[in-house]
Amino acid sequence: MAKAKAKPKAASSSHAGMGAGFNESVNRYFNKAANHMSHPAGILEQIRACNTVLEVKFPARINGEIQVISAWRAEHSHHKLPCKGGIRYSEDADVEEVIALASLMTYKCAVVNVPFGGGKGAIKINPKKVSVEELERITRRYTVELIHKNCIGASVDVPAPDYGSGQREMAWIADTYQSYRPDDINALGCVTGKPVSQGGVRGRTEATGRGVYFGVREAVNDTALMKKLGMTMGLGDKRIIVQGFGNVGYHAAKFLQEGGATIVGIIEWDGAVYNKDGIDVAALDAHRKATGSITNFAAAKTVKNGNSVLEYPCDILVPAALESQINEGNADKIKAKLIAEGANGPITAAAEEILIKRGILAIPDMYINAGGVVVSYFEWLKNLSHVRFGRMDKRFEENTNTSLIAAVERITGHALTPSERELIGRGADEEDLVNSGLEDTMIGSYHEIMETWRTHKKVHDMRTAGFITAIDKIATSYSSLGIFP
Ligand code: NAD
Repeated sequence: MAKAKAKPKAASSSHAGMGAGFNESVNRYFNKAANHMSHPAGILEQIRACNTVLEVKFPARINGEIQVISAWRAEHSHHKLPCKGGIRYSEDADVEEVIALASLMTYKCAVVNVPFGGGKGAIKINPKKVSVEELERITRRYTVELIHKNCIGASVDVPAPDYGSGQREMAWIADTYQSYRPDDINALGCVTGKPVSQGGVRGRTEATGRGVYFGVREAVNDTALMKKLGMTMGLGDKRIIVQGFGNVGYHAAKFLQEGGATIVGIIEWDGAVYNKDGIDVAALDAHRKATGSITNFAAAKTVKNGNSVLEYPCDILVPAALESQINEGNADKIKAKLIAEGANGPITAAAEEILIKRGILAIPDMYINAGGVVVSYFEWLKNLSHVRFGRMDKRFEENTNTSLIAAVERITGHALTPSERELIGRGADEEDLVNSGLEDTMIGSYHEIMETWRTHKKVHDMRTAGFITAIDKIATSYSSLGIFP
């Protein structure tokens, strides 16, 4: 296991901003879990503390005028390297929010057994208010700042997309890094979430939403949990409301619908759409692409005050937009029995107490939206191995399966149909392997958290069980590093 190297980095500014409440919530969650654990106070404090924060300011010409852009990169934990976490493009970003998000990444990686420390970055801009050329210049300049401070690279810190950023920005980052480090054979592993043509992995774009689906599916098929919540088994009769129709929200809605659930509401920043009989997710996406908004979709009612739909009747709520959306102001009005946190930190700590008292269960962000980092891990592995998953064995597997089918047909005297042959005979390609690895991780981690919950009788919620699971793994890692006895 790699140890953290000393790096020349600027100190964090400690000003409190809008993210302060979010950071406080994460710390409250951590402390609540720590109360159930017997690790030394010092090691718990080391796990909780953010190891490094880089804050940079640089000039950018926007609309012909020079503006000073603020940006951050937080490396919350170096217990495993590289650090991993997305870059948020948002006018509301601040250092506290970046630290909170970086710390969640540490716990998230631990919960889903991804061998990384947590990191997060942010650039304080609204990407919709600048031109593509300006956005590219700002992204490349931010990357250069990270290179100069040794805050990016396949072995030190590997960013990914987050709110407001996507494949395009990741390609710019990879290209900038490669041009500064042409002698780094693993340069493409400096960032994940890249387009497939630039070293990305198939399945990454939809991974977080797909992971939300796998996690929710596991929960609704958990007999003990469904009994506890007074819910029926399976997805078939579940009505779901999703907040945020971006990467996570759109894909979560799509896969949940394909899995048999009914999506009754979708909320965006400019309004919501609601139909108790269900909304066709693909048709709504086409409408949004054509008109620029989900509102005024003919097959559903438009609700101007979008966030009021969080309080509409449904079985499962998937907040997949921003943090602190379920707070003391609306927690007592939520009708869902299960909340799957597609976004990071959508429920405040104070709201969670209200929800627990009301018997509503939150499937915590650190687990349910971990699909992105799981598949980012696969992308990083692909970049380090310099070969596409399945390239070496797909054809071999197919030839073996074909021989097996021929033997079975010969022995039984029964010929398979062409579709059976196709299904059994084909070898796994990259997307199959990525999706299968993601499914296995989401199932395995669900049961690890639930096992922790079962063995801690005084724990009343899944988030605390998730934190205990994560903290235990990180403490074990520090222990085996020899940092404490
Ligand atoms: P995105 O930018 O693709 O989508 C966010 C969507 O939310 C946009 O459509 C935006 O218009 C909408 N939105 C903004 N304000 C809103 C409001 N007030 N009400 C309703 N909708 C609003 O971002 P994303 O990648 O989908 O990320 C969403 C959340 O999921 C963030 O909290 C992010 O940290 C988290 N997350 C993302 C990933 C990933 O792989 N992209 C992984 C884990 C967690």
